[in-house]
Amino acid sequence: MNIQINHKQEIPDSYLNISYYLNKYLHELPEPPLDPKTKQPIGPDALARLFPQELIRQEVTLEEFVPIPEEVQELYKMYRPTPLLRARRLEKVLGTPARIYFKYEGVSPVGSHKLNTALAQAYYNKKEGVRMLTTETGAGQWGSALALACKLFDMKCKVFMVKSSYAQKPYRKTVMHLYGAEVTASPSRETKSGTAFLLKDSKTTGSLGMAISEAVEVAATTEGAHYALGSVLNHVLLHQTIIGQEAKLQLMKEDVVPDVVIGCCGGGSNLAGISFPFLADKLSGKRNALRVVAVEPKACPSLTCGEYRYDSGDSAGMTPLMKMYTVGSDFVPPAIHAGGLRYHGDSPLISFLYHKKLIEAAAFSQQQCFRAAEIFAQAEGIIPAPESSHAIAQVISEAARAKKEGKRTVILFNLSGHGLLDLGAYEEFLQGGLYT
Ligand SMILES: *Cc1c(COP(=O)(O)O)cnc(C)c1O
Repeated sequence: MNIQINHKQEIPDSYLNISYYLNKYLHELPEPPLDPKTKQPIGPDALARLFPQELIRQEVTLEEFVPIPEEVQELYKMYRPTPLLRARRLEKVLGTPARIYFKYEGVSPVGSHKLNTALAQAYYNKKEGVRMLTTETGAGQWGSALALACKLFDMKCKVFMVKSSYAQKPYRKTVMHLYGAEVTASPSRETKSGTAFLLKDSKTTGSLGMAISEAVEVAATTEGAHYALGSVLNHVLLHQTIIGQEAKLQLMKEDVVPDVVIGCCGGGSNLAGISFPFLADKLSGKRNALRVVAVEPKACPSLTCGEYRYDSGDSAGMTPLMKMYTVGSDFVPPAIHAGGLRYHGDSPLISFLYHKKLIEAAAFSQQQCFRAAEIFAQAEGIIPAPESSHAIAQVISEAARAKKEGKRTVILFNLSGHGLLDLGAYEEFLQGGLYT
């Protein structure tokens, strides 16, 4: 049986800031973003055209906790606290002595963790008088989340959706339309950068990097518009820490602490969300043995095969340069179904932690991940998002290791979203048509 879901449990009233712990215990922080033209650290003024002041402040703050505005807390009650479940049937199927727990973010109205930051970002923008948000989306989860958040705060939303996903996931487009957003396949001819990408390669499947260029361009050239990013930036990772804070409390009630925390990693926000509250204890010396594992696709292996250097966040070189593990901002990843993991880089915070060997990384093929998702669905009933299936592939590998070593390892992973809008991908897998 799964453990009890306690809906009466309070949701956190503040976000936890990992930079506070890095500064206090490591006396070191990730290197700052640089202006793409001057190569000097970017000042708050340069960001003000795209982001509200409060988010620019959250990008660099060193306070331990950032209070969650009451209006945002109220909206979180739509789906939080999210359940923490023990995957007992999966443990049995795997024949492992390990105890496997997962935090299930798929219960959010949009089906993933992305709403956690979308609500906060929409709120701060609205408070500063912004009337429209632009963004990019890969598989469509971030676009759906921002579309709903904008609707709830009565703002317009314009989404550039990576072309390969636009074709693969037509229902996500419907979801965004239903929430009132405008959706354009990227690259498009609506922007200068999109037109340039098409000139270079008229058949391109698009990438998150290209879609970011288009969304930033529209925000920068439209009165009353700002840009919102669904991962990578410090403030996004900060907002997601409500996942790990809740999980910590929920596990405490079961009297367990995790030995290993696992999350799939595109830009790094859901991994940060589940792991930072536990990493804070590792940094402060309370939990030295804790392991954290970032899991990425072999098709876009930024941590496991990339270089740690300054690189652009988008393909046209419009965003600040960020110090991160990257496979190159002009890299166009194969059109794998885990669209949310098709990003050429990683967040500066996750990259820094990996560089400092405070977290580990692993990569799996698409075939391995869909196979893991199938095992999980048949054991626990939940159909995972293709992104989340990467975390499950690593869980299965950790469970096998625990079996070999005869250890009752406590594994915690983040099931970042459900895959009920990814059935086309699952159908292809079942028909044996997935490239590996
Ligand atoms: C977007 C997304 C991801 C990848 O983004 P991160 O910032 O790395 O979390 C993973 N899982 C789901 C379900 C997503 O929607």
